[in-house]
Amino acid sequence: MIALTDIQNAMQRISKWIHVTPVFTSQMLDSLSCNRVFLKAENLQKSGSFKFRGAMNFMLSMPEQQRTLGAVTGSSGNHGQALACAGKLLGVDVTVVVPEDVSVAKLAAIEGYGAKIERCGRTSTERLNRAHEISQQSGKVFVPPFDHPWIMAGQGTIGLELIEQLGQIDAVLVPCGGCGLISGISVALKESLKNVRIYGVEPEQSNSTYLSFKAGHLVELKNINTIADGLRTAMPGKLTFPIVQRYVDDILLVSESEIKQTMIFLLERMKILVEPSGAVTVAALIFNKVPLQNKKVVAILSGGNVDLLALSSWIDEVKQGGIEFESKSS
Ligand SMILES: *Cc1c(COP(=O)(O)O)cnc(C)c1O
Repeated sequence: MIALTDIQNAMQRISKWIHVTPVFTSQMLDSLSCNRVFLKAENLQKSGSFKFRGAMNFMLSMPEQQRTLGAVTGSSGNHGQALACAGKLLGVDVTVVVPEDVSVAKLAAIEGYGAKIERCGRTSTERLNRAHEISQQSGKVFVPPFDHPWIMAGQGTIGLELIEQLGQIDAVLVPCGGCGLISGISVALKESLKNVRIYGVEPEQSNSTYLSFKAGHLVELKNINTIADGLRTAMPGKLTFPIVQRYVDDILLVSESEIKQTMIFLLERMKILVEPSGAVTVAALIFNKVPLQNKKVVAILSGGNVDLLALSSWIDEVKQGGIEFESKSS
């Protein structure tokens, strides 16, 4: 468990390094969902996702002596970018183990922050094993993507920021991968506000948090097939899951088609570019998965790192489908 004070301390540590991300509103989104909706734009955070908060808090919490040895992780995506970005700002040596089939864009982003790259295998298990091996051989500190108190506390600073920006909130929608993000936000909000509800959102085709939440114990997925690459986690963490069980009200599911349509809605109507993992919360609102009306609801846009070639194919698909958004209230 982490406490509210851990998150408050994290905020003190990272506040001069992070962007206070804006909150956007849209009348169209309000009328589509029959709620007052606020979008927390962590797609505009440094490195392109909220993961920068956790990575920064981890680095700043490490004893000075460890920091000089450097940090290592295994990630093809936002955690690797965030750690590389934090390392560049703090002058810490970072190594990121990436899969052999990593996309050119992601590789360029990690390299752009000056991190060392090592290619290994294709699965996250292979990458993480190699990162642990490097850690043991070199003394570099292994930085996990979600299952660590410093990471959870860093992500939780979003909750404190929301209270500053919006005051009382009725509900928050949070994407779930390994559940570092939702555990941090849950502790920050449920320990600070009365009557706030927390909903996790997952793709139907990567629903390990949903299954674990309903079963009351960790359920590991074998087949994961979603475009939301930040949410392709086989199961929640050993440290994050008890927090989910204690604080989260429910887990909602969205389909692949709903995710794509929502990305294009956000881009076209609101000029906001989010990646699939960042669009699931708004998808839950637009496609009526959220059991609320006339409430003040925050949707976390968790990241904006999207492959533009993939995006253009999703735009073609959605436009050919001729999908129209209809307002519930009209
Ligand atoms: C990592 C990530 C998530 C999921 O965060 P967890 O802490 O693993 O639950 C959601 N969205 C984006 C964009 C991410 O990079």
